[in-house]
Amino acid sequence: MHKIKNLINGVLVEPLSGTYLDNYNPSTGKVYSLIPDSDERDVEIAVKAAQDAFPNWSSLSTQKRSALLIRLSELIEKNLERFAVAESVDNGKPVWLARTVDIPRAVDNFHFYATAALHHHTETHSMGEVALNYTLRTPIGIAGCISPWNLPLYLFSWKIAPALASGNCVVAKPSEITPMTAYLLSELVIEAGIPAGVLNIVHGLGTKVGASIVAHPKIQAISFTGGTKTGEHIAKVAGPMFKKVSLELGGKNPNIIFADCDFDLAVKTTVRSSFANQGEICLCGSRIFIESPLYEKFKNAFIEEVKKLKVGDPSDDKNWLGAIVSKPHMEKILHYIELAQQEGGKIVHGGNQLKLTGEFAEGYFIAPTIIEGLPHDCRTNQEEIFGPVVTLQPFDTEEEVLGYANSTNYGLAASVWTQHLTKAHHVAAKLQSGIVWVNCWLLRDLRTPFGGVKSSGVGREGGFEALNFFTEEKNVCIKL
Ligand code: NDP
Repeated sequence: MHKIKNLINGVLVEPLSGTYLDNYNPSTGKVYSLIPDSDERDVEIAVKAAQDAFPNWSSLSTQKRSALLIRLSELIEKNLERFAVAESVDNGKPVWLARTVDIPRAVDNFHFYATAALHHHTETHSMGEVALNYTLRTPIGIAGCISPWNLPLYLFSWKIAPALASGNCVVAKPSEITPMTAYLLSELVIEAGIPAGVLNIVHGLGTKVGASIVAHPKIQAISFTGGTKTGEHIAKVAGPMFKKVSLELGGKNPNIIFADCDFDLAVKTTVRSSFANQGEICLCGSRIFIESPLYEKFKNAFIEEVKKLKVGDPSDDKNWLGAIVSKPHMEKILHYIELAQQEGGKIVHGGNQLKLTGEFAEGYFIAPTIIEGLPHDCRTNQEEIFGPVVTLQPFDTEEEVLGYANSTNYGLAASVWTQHLTKAHHVAAKLQSGIVWVNCWLLRDLRTPFGGVKSSGVGREGGFEALNFFTEEKNVCIKL
């Protein structure tokens, strides 16, 4: 069986423990490769490699670093189909989605930050004839980057690219549930000629490898995307060590549909924002609030559209949803569907595990599920499910829906559907959310700040925000 390896000091190596974890294909439920069960000893060697590489990498000209990262992005593009298939097999997502979203975005992430670094500048503050202040920005040193399983290479590269472009060396850990494309990336890192030790990728469990990265005294910045509970734990460890920490955490995003919306577009886009990637995108809208006069019409049209979505073999382009990422996650989602019914919810579509046949008989498939009749403050509507499950709720006034939308501990993203400009601005301003989309969803410009409020995280990624995060500022004051 194929063994994934760690990338440490420019070489693909086995974990020191010599032991491996099973890597499942979620669409078949079968083990198809092995993941290094690394531990703090592997992290230690990776940190040493990063430390040794840092003086040269950080003093390389920005242009030279940029050229190497552009080369890496070109190599991913050249291997796009191979990466897309690998992502789909590893995560369960449809291959068409990996081909059109995940892998192209990983290409863009490296390209974007390779070029953004060329334009990153610092400020001067003149005190007239008295003095001149200028700001120096220097790389932090070694950055720890930890990413989740839902958009594996997309989110992994979203962290690594700005960290490297701004002159840091990196010790990174992809989710042990979806390690394959990070491993394929390791091969391309070597082929691109990125110097040994600049990027180290250590595979294994969050509680071993992830925890060692977070607690390592030589790793001065942690960029983490994942669940709120894990984020809380990381903050507790990294806080007293005074590390820089960026936390992109969970969400329970509202979609607000006003009666004056562009109906067809709102229905079509809400289907995508509910069920894209099996609902396993932190930005998916899972609570759909519909203005009362439109409620029945919207509900019926939405159900009709969702009925058309095919679920199954992720390699078949006719299927719109693939498999849920893992058995425990599938069970968690099914548990929430049960809870929703105990709380009085009525399932108007889906609500069950799908049993396929043949090689997919043991796969983890769930029908896209729509639930109505639940109050905004029940557990189903307050806790993150992170699967193909949405609830529908009517509302009568703007104040009422803002109260519902803002009632969770989360605040990552929201969508607002209305043709009334003033209402759109007003609601967008009042939503407790890091990102608001008006009449669209997942329309992304990589220059914009990305992140959440409340339990959805701390700090912002995207644009110069990430380059600022991965650098330290120093003010130099010169008396004239
Ligand atoms: P987890 O928090 O379980 O894991 C995220 C990463 O952290 C994984 O690599 C995991 O390793 C690692 N990890 C686990 N425990 C520790 C620890 N004690 N110390 C350090 N690292 C650790 O999240 P999921 O992978 O389940 O991802 C889903 C979550 O991610 C959802 O809540 C979702 O909303 C959120 N998310 C947020 C986004 C955002 O931008 N705000 C974007 C995408 C997802 P391992 O997998 O090996 O356990």
